[in-house]
Amino acid sequence: MKFTVLTLFPEILESFFNSSIMKKAVEKGLIEYNLVDIRDFALDKHRTCDDAPYGGGAGMVLKAEPLALALDSVKASVKRTVFPTPSGVRYTQKIAEELSEEKEIVLICGRYEGIDQRIIDLYVDDEVCIGDYVISSGEIASLVVIDSIYRLCDGVITQESLEEESFQDTLLEYPHYTRPEVFRDQKVPDILLSGHHARIVEWRHGKRLEKTKKNRPDLWDGHDLDRRMK
Ligand code: SAM
Repeated sequence: MKFTVLTLFPEILESFFNSSIMKKAVEKGLIEYNLVDIRDFALDKHRTCDDAPYGGGAGMVLKAEPLALALDSVKASVKRTVFPTPSGVRYTQKIAEELSEEKEIVLICGRYEGIDQRIIDLYVDDEVCIGDYVISSGEIASLVVIDSIYRLCDGVITQESLEEESFQDTLLEYPHYTRPEVFRDQKVPDILLSGHHARIVEWRHGKRLEKTKKNRPDLWDGHDLDRRMK
């Protein structure tokens, strides 16, 4: 899987690709990345990439020409191109799974008020919203998308770690504990120390149901009854 990211601030993304599990995945050749500085495609000597919006209003808009040239340089029109934006469809685990099947994804990082609509019309396949709030940087939104996808790619983390994760089957995950057995008078639940595998599975499933019902009634309502009983 290759991530090609168009950004005004490549340094924000560079540190992610150079850390932790992602760094190992890149070293093993499981993940490739290409950070494209949109400013390299600006047309004037001041390397201007933004301008005031037509029709007036606050803030600036990322200009179409540098973005289009940057997108052309990576042949984005024949690749799956994703623009994270608050006005996109809600980004979910299902979309992450679908995108993880692609060979390459091109991401556009918005800034200021956003990007010229004509870029969306001409190049973008998916507009995705990472949550119902507004952040100032498309780089952070793109990192959320990248992080959710690359961990699903073959060989990056074990299959076992992906099983029973939150959202896999509309339930949230069960709680985890590690050493020490007692921490500030809080003891690890006895069942987890019992060595009784079947009962541990049952306890964890119960906790998943409890947590989903409490924290995410929206997921709970859509969860089918047969599965709840298992
Ligand atoms: N004016 C835009 C609006 O009201 O929808 C917000 C622009 S925001 C300040 C700047 C950039 O951050 C966006 O273009 C987008 O790339 C990114 N961004 C902010 N919030 C986001 C969200 N919830 N989901 C995805 N991207 C987001």
